[in-house]
Amino acid sequence: MTDFPAGTILGYPRIGRRRELKRAVEAHWSGALDEAALERTAADLRRATRERLAALGLGRDDSSIPESFSYYDQVLDAALTVGALPERFAPLRAADGSIPLAAYFAAARGDETGAPLEMTKWFDTNYHYLVPEIGPETQFSLSSDRFARLVAEAKADGVTVRPVVVGPVTLLALAKATDAAPAGFDPLSRLDDLLPVYAELLASLTAAGAEWVQLDEPALVSESLSAPPAALADAASRAYAVLGDAPRRPAILVAAGYAQLSAEAWAALAAAPVEAIAIDVHRGSVPAGAEGLEGKTLVGGVVDGRNIWRGDLGGAWDRLEELRGIGAKSVAAGTSTSLQHVPHDVDDEAGLDPRLVSWLAFADQKVRQVVALARGLVEGRDAIEPEVAAASAALAERRSAPGVRDAAVRARAAGLTAGDFDRSDYDARVAAQDALGLPVLPTTTIGSFPQTGDIRRARARFGRGELTADEYDGFLRAEIQRVVRLQEDLDLDVLVHGEAERNDMVQYFAELLDGFAVTQHGWVQSYGSRATRPSILWGDVSRPAPMTVAWSAYAQSLSDKHVKGMLTGPVTILAWSFVRDDQPLGETANQVALALRDEIADLEEAGIRIIQVDEPALRELLPLKKAAQPAYLDWSVGSFRLATAGARDATQLHTHLCYSEFAVVIDAIAALDADVTSIEAARSRGEVIADVADSGFSHGIGPGVYDIHSPRVPSVDEIGELLERAATELPLRQVWVNPDCGLKTRGYDETVASLRNIVAATLAVREKV
Ligand code: GLN
Ligand code: ZN
Repeated sequence: MTDFPAGTILGYPRIGRRRELKRAVEAHWSGALDEAALERTAADLRRATRERLAALGLGRDDSSIPESFSYYDQVLDAALTVGALPERFAPLRAADGSIPLAAYFAAARGDETGAPLEMTKWFDTNYHYLVPEIGPETQFSLSSDRFARLVAEAKADGVTVRPVVVGPVTLLALAKATDAAPAGFDPLSRLDDLLPVYAELLASLTAAGAEWVQLDEPALVSESLSAPPAALADAASRAYAVLGDAPRRPAILVAAGYAQLSAEAWAALAAAPVEAIAIDVHRGSVPAGAEGLEGKTLVGGVVDGRNIWRGDLGGAWDRLEELRGIGAKSVAAGTSTSLQHVPHDVDDEAGLDPRLVSWLAFADQKVRQVVALARGLVEGRDAIEPEVAAASAALAERRSAPGVRDAAVRARAAGLTAGDFDRSDYDARVAAQDALGLPVLPTTTIGSFPQTGDIRRARARFGRGELTADEYDGFLRAEIQRVVRLQEDLDLDVLVHGEAERNDMVQYFAELLDGFAVTQHGWVQSYGSRATRPSILWGDVSRPAPMTVAWSAYAQSLSDKHVKGMLTGPVTILAWSFVRDDQPLGETANQVALALRDEIADLEEAGIRIIQVDEPALRELLPLKKAAQPAYLDWSVGSFRLATAGARDATQLHTHLCYSEFAVVIDAIAALDADVTSIEAARSRGEVIADVADSGFSHGIGPGVYDIHSPRVPSVDEIGELLERAATELPLRQVWVNPDCGLKTRGYDETVASLRNIVAATLAVREKV
């Protein structure tokens, strides 16, 4: 067995520097690119990644280059490799039982064979994984040779990669029970049946030439999964006892990023017969020594895998030194998580202020940092003094740079009082909002309408100066008019302007607020082929001018129905940006909240009566550790209230949250004190309705009836069923009717058909209730 290299990264962005993978898979889905051509594009991309990583200083033959490619999602890759394809897709299996790419994409996206796997956020990140479905009936068997093929492909190019596979404990801990499973069934109970398939997978990787494999087990850091930490640690003990014993296996690195390993899991892994453990010592602290460490390499995740700051390289070095003191055989430098959460390369950002650039590190710069630290581990600290000194100088410069602190912003925040966070009683608001004249079961949408090729082209042409500001403005007005007319034709009750002017619900605001910068190529995978371009929140935030008022007022002028004003909430603006790390998040959130508060006042002044403040990321940022959750909920809920509490009683305040794990944050959602909350519910077929009913939540609630992550059009019957369920389990006056989320990623045909069905189903249910 080869020794573990002195430095590595836990994973690398796989979408391509210019989103080549997105374009290829989407062309494949549309029928424009056949499977062989798609595979060739993907292989080229993997080769380019390996060559890039080698050029940045990772070794071609020491397993320091991870192979973390995925066509869609790493959890789906692992689930289907071990054969956990839901029964409804069984017809798509090949004759020999293996799972072809077409079945993989069907499970990811849904098609006429069946609805896709559910999708949910990966730990406390904005990356979405597909939730495996596992029941007592699931037959595990090695069903794909994909991982081995990728190893062999690299080998043929002279590179020994370290394949990255989601580990067995995390795979089961993130899974949900199949519909066929009895109540209370726990997927983790299938661990012993799953392990032989992992052992077989390991043997196939060895045969393909892998010397090391990385098994990702971030479940072992979480206190937010249904299995408690002790049960997860126990599962890890059993799993790695078996896999450590497996014949013909590569050396095993168990990687657990995103936070500190639980104490139980740390002891379990230290004692397990594996060769290396990667831990997050960026978020987590350096653990105490543990029984069994002496034979192992510890990969110290000292370089932040999730944010874009160049950070304190000297501090990272110090943590590695500390880690060297706890008794492992050796210590290597690493990232705290996969770099899939950051963009490729700062050097691509010609448009950014060079001063800001000098404070930043994207994936490629982080690889260089890891390589530098690794060299320090081999040659001594002196060898990397120039790198450490340069990083420290940049950090010092950043701390004192103009704009990082703005006296006016700070003075306003310092003057806040408790009253600034409260609206009047809900009952008083309900009475005042009666004047809105809404029917029972009011229908609405979440905000965006399809972002068509026309819209994107117009935006791009405006960006290149091929359209004047007036021309672009005229185009957007025409688009708003079209969307308003369409909603009137469909007979929806509360309208939206469609968000055509927004490239993205966070970036749009970031571009209009002081304290933010936006990138040109800083794409990060969100799910499947979708990527977002997080803005960089680097300084104190303020609003130089109204941001949405002109569009909302124009839309409202076109209709007698109410058109919702549409804002993104402070927590989501933070969650989907790269946020400054030099002050508590709560302080930053309140700065954003005050800017939104002023915007709401301006919208009211312009005659807008219903205003939605989206907080889809409220759940996502919830810390994985229980002890950290109350403080988080305190500042996050507080910032939403600060943003909205200035609204008049007669103004109906909506919020929107995009996940179905309502039960987890129900108290926080209630504490937001919005008048109406829309939430995702369609993929879980309304499961959330029971949680809402049980919780005693008493404000307006719109459980989504249309899964907008799938091209499928829901039928009138299916929507009616969900609505009837909501109308039976909840007081009628509370229930709103809406899709799961915005429609921007959908096409017009399916959108119109779906909305038509939503209105038809609502009318039918109104008759009955
Ligand atoms: N208003 C936004 C939209 O409809 C909300 C999007 C979201 O929740 N992710 O696009
Ligand atoms: Zn949403």
